[in-house]
Amino acid sequence: MLIDKHNRVHDYLRLSITERCNLRCTYCMPSEGIDLTPKEHIMTNDEILDFAKIFVDMGIKKIRLTGGEPLVRKDAKEIIERLGQLPIQLAITTNGILLDRFMDTFKKAGLKSVNVSLDTLDQNKFELITRRDYFDRVYANILQYLDAGFKVKINAVVMKKFNCDEIIRFIDLGQHHNLQVQFIEFMPFGGNQWDWDKGMSMQEILDKAYAHYGKTAVQRISDKANDTGKNYKIAGYKGSFNIISTITEPFCATCNRIRLTADGKLRNCLLATGEMDLLKPYRKGEDIQPLIVENIQAKAAERGGWKNFEELANPDNHSQNRSMILIGG
Ligand code: SAM
Ligand code: SF4
Repeated sequence: MLIDKHNRVHDYLRLSITERCNLRCTYCMPSEGIDLTPKEHIMTNDEILDFAKIFVDMGIKKIRLTGGEPLVRKDAKEIIERLGQLPIQLAITTNGILLDRFMDTFKKAGLKSVNVSLDTLDQNKFELITRRDYFDRVYANILQYLDAGFKVKINAVVMKKFNCDEIIRFIDLGQHHNLQVQFIEFMPFGGNQWDWDKGMSMQEILDKAYAHYGKTAVQRISDKANDTGKNYKIAGYKGSFNIISTITEPFCATCNRIRLTADGKLRNCLLATGEMDLLKPYRKGEDIQPLIVENIQAKAAERGGWKNFEELANPDNHSQNRSMILIGG
């Protein structure tokens, strides 16, 4: 098992299969764009499968595909079907644009759970934040997946002066649909011009819910082990919501996640700047298991090693991190 020096067992791998994306979300991708890693330094289909097998041998039980946008990779269907053969729970985080082309593949691979990123229910605002006009497709795909019985979560990064006025609309999706909305606090990454004044805290999101529904109607429901968010439900609603408070109340004590970037670098924390290259040694025929153990053991107790909010918020620190699109959320 992959256990770090703080006794946390790591059994969940977030696996980025591409740095490319068909959207340009402002909080994720710098306005000047990104320098893509040359193709020869991106993991091939076979390498992805080999790495996945190595991680499964080391105790990984769940793999979530991410990116960039995982579904834009040309061989995404084959990768998903091959990963579906492993003894793991397979999931995906996607912007939803291409979901309608993948339902059969997901069914074949036993992938039953999709997280779809959607920050607004307003078509014009969608174009503002993503710099593309795909709202109708994403929304139609969400409904299609709900109808087909998939477990659907919506990821929304909540920001002041952008979508904080839509919190109730999002929660109300759960009135008739059995879905979960995950409100995510805005996180700092290289090139995303992070400033916490733009973000909405868990408490501010909750206060909006309390003010609208009344305190007793907003029910705190149980969290699963290793949940990154705090779960809530409105009395009588089919769906629920959850708040991922990475900034104001980090959940590092129960973290079980590690990440592998599309260029084969292991990251033991989203907010840490350090990465360990696995692809180069693997291509040289070296045994990468000891490297993986070393990297996980060295994981910082909290927030990627930044001791407090002030350290994390310091642009000299977080701007050293890669952009989210290159890491894989
Ligand atoms: N393209 C896919 C998508 O958008 O779902 C997968 C990759 S994306 C990087 C994964 C998740 O990271 C998305 O839900 C996105 O909202 C989230 N994300 C990106 N930048 C973020 C930021 N600065 N703060 C919080 N969440 C962020
Ligand atoms: Fe692309 Fe996802 Fe980043 Fe948006 S959040 S730019 S969809 S990778």
